[in-house]
Amino acid sequence: MKLLIVEDESKIGNYLKQGLSEAGFVVDLAHNGLDGHHLAMTEVYDLLILDVMLPDIDGWTILKSLREAGRNIPVLFLTARDTVNDRVKGLELGADDYLVKPFAFVELLARVRTLLRRGASPANETTLTVADLELDLMRRCAAGRRYRIGTGHRQVHCRCSQRQDRRNVL
Ligand code: CA
Repeated sequence: MKLLIVEDESKIGNYLKQGLSEAGFVVDLAHNGLDGHHLAMTEVYDLLILDVMLPDIDGWTILKSLREAGRNIPVLFLTARDTVNDRVKGLELGADDYLVKPFAFVELLARVRTLLRRGASPANETTLTVADLELDLMRRCAAGRRYRIGTGHRQVHCRCSQRQDRRNVL
């Protein structure tokens, strides 16, 4: 299992990286929002541990960007903020869980394992297959045995949404 931690406080970031590595995970650590956003958008991770207050791009913006791009990786927010509104904002943007600093590592580990067991929501699968036609929601393209379809961003996105809605009927 591969995890990405985005945390600008190096003491916390290194501590989490070491602890999660010792627990058997492969861990990447980004120290600012820009690097974290880039890694989360280009690499494949099983879970993202995301600090909210970050240099360059804050955690909320990273999460929003990921979800808009169709990336449904589970996200655990780390936040120093402890107001109801901040927690609700994170959850509404698509966070799967959150921890308020300071927290115990064992609690973080338990939440990480729970989120990984739960995995990505089936409703947000990134590839849909019907007969020999495969629709890649991430890359916004469709491919089949006999043909490959390249269409405009908006057009494919629209078709994907329709197909997702109808999936249970099919
Ligand atoms: Ca921070």
